[in-house]
Amino acid sequence: MQSADIVIVGGGVVGSSIAYQCLKRGVGSVLVVDTAQSSGQGSTRYATGGYRAQHSTDINVRLSLLAREQLLSFHSDTGIDCEYRPCGYLMAARSSEQLVLLRKALTVQHAAGLDVSREVSIDEMRAINPFLNTTDLIGGTYCPIDGYIRPLQVLEGYQAASKALGAVYRFGCGTVNILFDNDQKAVGVKVDGDTIHSGCVVIAAGAWSGLIKGNGQYDIPVRPERRQVACTVVQDLLAENLPLTIDIENGFHMRVRDGRCLLLWPGESSGANEFDIMFDTGWLEQMIPLAHHFIPCLKDIALDSEKHWCGLYEMTPDHHCLFGKVPNSEALYIATGNSGHGVMHSPALGVLMADLLSSGKTRLDTHCLRPSRFMENDAISDLGIL
Ligand SMILES: Cc1cc2nc3c(=O)[nH]c(=O)nc-3n(C[C@H](O)[C@H](O)[C@H](O)COP(=O)(O)OP(=O)(O)OC[C@H]3O[C@@H](n4cnc5c(N)ncnc54)[C@H](O)[C@@H]3O)c2cc1C
Repeated sequence: MQSADIVIVGGGVVGSSIAYQCLKRGVGSVLVVDTAQSSGQGSTRYATGGYRAQHSTDINVRLSLLAREQLLSFHSDTGIDCEYRPCGYLMAARSSEQLVLLRKALTVQHAAGLDVSREVSIDEMRAINPFLNTTDLIGGTYCPIDGYIRPLQVLEGYQAASKALGAVYRFGCGTVNILFDNDQKAVGVKVDGDTIHSGCVVIAAGAWSGLIKGNGQYDIPVRPERRQVACTVVQDLLAENLPLTIDIENGFHMRVRDGRCLLLWPGESSGANEFDIMFDTGWLEQMIPLAHHFIPCLKDIALDSEKHWCGLYEMTPDHHCLFGKVPNSEALYIATGNSGHGVMHSPALGVLMADLLSSGKTRLDTHCLRPSRFMENDAISDLGIL
């Protein structure tokens, strides 16, 4: 394909969702260019598959609710089951300050249209997760529509459905250079010596987006952040439908997937460089005591060192997505920097990008996500629960 109405740089779950929605809505022909040798080599592969609407900013709640509409019809839309299972998220507070934050987040959620998240008593928390150590907890919140999805099945669904509608995916590309005319309008890309003309270009290259050079007048504020996941052996004490349970004090959280408990904690781990995803075993020493204190039965379940992994979050300075037109250029758009929420928000970002490219407007007000916000000192402020 030597021309396309829309060229998408990056064929992960976000780029593929955009491809699907643009084609479904007849916005134009789509070419996706990706430097990986094959599909699913980016961060999407490493996501654990949490979905939550229980966020602490209005925009993230609304993105999750819009995404959920898409998840509910995902199977019939794409032919692939993304296995959305609303098992709930339980957030646990240890201090009155933390409980105040959770209550403030509930207010944000209810105002944004999420009406089923609620405060729960210690007794209810024990009933929701009987494995939780509640001795030093003082309360929490719970949302029953939060739960789980399968990241690679979301990706596969969007790719298969967009290909069926005519999308072309080109993997194994060398460096992708975005081409501009004299008016700083993106007019296509140059890849492996081929010039591909397009009406617009959308950057969706995840954790690597900060490396992409546009017209030199905007540095994409996305950096990679290592995130590690420890795995237990396959066990049958904790069930698959146990809600994802989060210790607000330190960010430790756990869930069960394919019989294994997945243990996550956002504490630092070291890599040879910021893109290195070698698992750092030193991190386990700090994570394990937090896990054992929060869910004591984990002491009796062995870890499986062969199964631990590390992946990259694509972080922005305010931990919210960059969505919209790239400053100081025309016909150049971006949807990335989801800072840990890219799989769950990808269905919404596809819908919104199709809105933007077709009409210049979006059904949700995405002004706060505009890529120029950091240049304007207008970063999103967040209660920062997780
Ligand atoms: C341990 C871990 C747990 C996570 N858990 C969750 C979770 O529970 N829920 C959730 O919603 N999210 C979670 N995430 C975050 C989620 O994985 C990401 O937000 C999401 O996968 C981002 O999707 P993407 O399409 O933007 O990026 P990616 O999947 O990384 O895709 C980007 C694509 O761009 C390509 N690319 C890179 N550079 C270039 C270039 N210069 N030119 C062309 N192509 C390029 C890459 O090859 C890749 O295919 C987790 C992440 C990690 C690491």
